[in-house]
Amino acid sequence: MIGVGSYLLESGILLSRMASKIYLIYKGGALGGDKEMIAAIEKKKNIELIPQSSVKALSGTNNLQSITLVDNSGQEKVVNVDGLFIEMGSKINLDFIKQLVKINSKSEIETTPDGKTSHPAIFAAGDASSIPYKQIVAACSGGATAGLSAFNYVEKLKGKPGVRADWKKTIGDTVFHY
Ligand SMILES: Cc1cc2nc3c(=O)[nH]c(=O)nc-3n(C[C@H](O)[C@H](O)[C@H](O)COP(=O)(O)OP(=O)(O)OC[C@H]3O[C@@H](n4cnc5c(N)ncnc54)[C@H](O)[C@@H]3O)c2cc1C
Repeated sequence: MIGVGSYLLESGILLSRMASKIYLIYKGGALGGDKEMIAAIEKKKNIELIPQSSVKALSGTNNLQSITLVDNSGQEKVVNVDGLFIEMGSKINLDFIKQLVKINSKSEIETTPDGKTSHPAIFAAGDASSIPYKQIVAACSGGATAGLSAFNYVEKLKGKPGVRADWKKTIGDTVFHY
């Protein structure tokens, strides 16, 4: 695994439960990030730390078989591997929308559970929104929710009731599911 800070640490810990041997490759002299995670990494017998290094070349025929590392002094080393995970983190680019919606301290669009933002006509989902877990299935779910909210918003502008996203209707004391 090659990367930075807590992204590298967390992924290293997760993968160390499945892989027999892991190399953690990073540019700095010491691991950065959460101190508890660093302590956990240092206890793992199947993790080898490779500081002050970067990847120069990837080699293999049909699959990745080895990587060539180069350290800060220019010395090269070839390591045989089955895979390479890149854990550099990610940055959400909200420059195009930050004037229109409220952005929280984590640089996410502040979003309600039904995908609404501080702007009545803008709905958000996925990594750009303030959902707690940034995963594909969570982003898809948020997309469906935000889509329904947007549809309801447009329907309301036309004076129509919109859809009932929970498929439930109460008439008197009776709740109908349909
Ligand atoms: C290294 C890595 C590994 C991951 N592994 C997993 C995993 O194993 N399982 C899992 O569930 N999740 C994983 N994730 C998280 C998952 O990829 C995201 O949670 C998911 O892709 C979020 O979907 P999204 O639609 O919100 O954003 P994205 O998938 O990022 O889609 C946003 C799209 O918008 C486009 N875009 C950006 N700006 C503009 C603009 N101004 N105009 C038009 N288009 C624009 C982008 O090009 C992109 O196509 C991983 C993420 C990373 C970075």
